[in-house]
Amino acid sequence: MPRPKKKRKIKSPPKMLGFKPFGIKFCNSSHISLQYEEYESVKLVIYDKLSQDTAAEMMEVSRPTLTRIYNSALKKIAEAFVEGKSILIKGGDFEFGKEWYKCKKCFKLIETTIGTTSCVDCLTSSKNELISLND
Ligand SMILES: [Zn+2]
Repeated sequence: MPRPKKKRKIKSPPKMLGFKPFGIKFCNSSHISLQYEEYESVKLVIYDKLSQDTAAEMMEVSRPTLTRIYNSALKKIAEAFVEGKSILIKGGDFEFGKEWYKCKKCFKLIETTIGTTSCVDCLTSSKNELISLND
């Protein structure tokens, strides 16, 4: 029996849903999908300046897996950058350490412990105004 694929750990979701280039007309066919774990690998290795070994530990994957995810992310970002494509951050095989919501009104990311689901910024507390990022 194949071993069930382990989910990659992501500390916190990105602040945005993606990126759009300036001076390029947006059309649906010209976007690249960047998976959440690809975003996380670039954040840990380049932005947080961690070694790939440390990043692999944090995401609970092997070092070769981390390198594969990271290289795939860089390739996609370079393609978007050079070809003027937009990037949508979505999908992947991951789980957050905590529950995260995004406020539909002000787009703020909200980290919750069970029971508290109101936006600290615009004070909206309607469940319909908060999108769960864990689903
Ligand atoms: Zn809000």
